Formats: sequence, C-alpha cells, structure tokens
Amino acid sequence: MNNPSTERVAVVTGAGSGIGRAMALAFGRTGVRVVAADLDPETAAKTAAEIGAGAIAVGVDIADEGSVDAMVERAVDAYGTIDVLCNNAGIIDSMALPADMTVGEWNRVIQINLTGTFLVTHAVLPHMLEHGSGVIVNTASEAGIRGGASGVAYTASKHGVVGLTKNVAWSYADKGIRCNAILPGPTMTGVAEAAANFDKLGAARLQPIISLNHSIAVPEQMADVAVFLASDAASFMNGAIVPVDGGWSAG
Ligand code: NAD
Repeated sequence: MNNPSTERVAVVTGAGSGIGRAMALAFGRTGVRVVAADLDPETAAKTAAEIGAGAIAVGVDIADEGSVDAMVERAVDAYGTIDVLCNNAGIIDSMALPADMTVGEWNRVIQINLTGTFLVTHAVLPHMLEHGSGVIVNTASEAGIRGGASGVAYTASKHGVVGLTKNVAWSYADKGIRCNAILPGPTMTGVAEAAANFDKLGAARLQPIISLNHSIAVPEQMADVAVFLASDAASFMNGAIVPVDGGWSAG
C-alpha cells in the first residue's frame, strides 16, 4: 500500500479526538476509506465530515464486545472489508501510586486500553484472514516500555498492548497480516488536559522520568508514522514497537 488507493479501508478507534482524529484525517488525505469510530459519536461524526464522502462515523465502546462487533459489522457493511486497523482509543489513569489506586480505576483502565484493544483486534482479524492481508497499528505509549512514565494501571495496560502487538504479529506473520505499535511521547491532545486532575504524590514520583523529555508532539506527528506503518513501505515491519518520542526513550 505505497500509495493507498480508494479500495483500502481503515478503521480508526478514538477518531473523535487527538491522535486518532489526526490518523483518520491522514488516511482520508491518502484516499483510504475511513471508519471513524469513537465513544463519542458526535466527535466521530465531525472527523468523518472533515474527511468527506470517503468516511463514515460509528459510535463504539471498545470495552464492550457487543458494541465492537456492531462497529465491525457496520464497517464491513459500508465498505466490504477492513484493510487497516488503528487501535488507538485509550484513556489515561490518575497517576495514583499502586497502593493508592482503586481497584475500580485499575479495572476501567485495563478494560478500555488492553481488553478493548484485544476486542477490536479479535473482531477484525477474521476479515483480514478471509482476504489474506491486513495491517494493524496499535497506539501504545512510552509507558508500554517504561515503569516510570505513568500510573500503574496505564503502565500495565500499555505493556499489555505491547505484548498483544507482538503476539498478533507472530501469530499471523505467515498469513499476510502485520501488527506494529507506536509509542507516542507526550502529545498535545485531550489526554494532556487530564493532567490537571493527576494524583499529586504519584505525579511527583514520575517527575524524574517525565523531565527527561524535552518536547511535546502534535498529533499529526503520530499520524504520519501510522500511515507509514500501514503502507507497503513498511511491508517487512511486523511486531515492531516504534517510539515516536523525539528521542525521549533514547536517553
Ligand atoms: P484523546 O483523549 O484526545 O483521544 C482519545 C479518544 O478515545 C477520545 O476521542 C475518546 O472519546 C476515545 N475513547 C475513550 N474511551 C473509549 C472507548 N471506550 N471506546 C471508544 N473510544 C474511546 O487522547 P489521545 O492522546 O489522542 O489518545 C489516543 C491514544 O494515544 C491513547 O491510546 C493514549 O493512551 C495514547 N497516548 C497518548 C499520549 C499523549 O501524550 N497524548 C501519549 C502516549 C500514548
């Protein structure tokens, strides 16, 4: 998919805001048909409207199997297939230290970030297997490879996404399906707004690692890498965990 054509279909979760919105718009610009999926159907609809005729919006809760199945059915009904899946929807945690985080918060973050990513992958894979090709791009995080970049639930969920990425890559390497993950560094999105409510003790404990980072990305810098990973230019990349962080993780 060097020059993605109009026959290609990409599902992007979390497409109503931030990185997912930028991914959906970037795919739309390359002529790929886009299924802009989000918990918030209004923001998904705005993204789809910005793309125009080559996009539809679908409301989905990726943490809910029935909702995910309905979203995939809607995508396949509309466009016949799914070539690209960007598992991007996710939430941040409160940064509370492990002893202070509630089990409720833990469950919610794991259910959305990790189980949700699995549920969408699980529902889309049969369509990719049916036509013997497909590309999955997961949005993990620096917290997927480091212990001190976020709270315990988010960190565990994103480490899980990294493991899921490698397992899917290995499982279907002989079936024409690739699966890679990006690890965004801090990026100007809705997640950044949550910083105001971070647990003070937990956030202070993360500060030594956070302060190693020297810059904040814009969502388009993540989207460009997702478009590359979904393209034939990345045809031999499978199971790669790609930092997109301006060098933060190199330090
Ligand atoms: P964002 O809040 O701007 O966008 C996230 C989108 O996901 C929202 O539109 C939201 O409605 C949607 N969403 C949340 N829960 C959902 C659910 N259950 N089902 C469907 N959609 C749901 O945040 P963002 O920064 O663009 O985050 C996108 C991804 O990037 C997330 O996985 C996040 O963990 C990851 N990430 C972000 C940063 C950062 O600094 N912004 C850094 C590393 C990783």
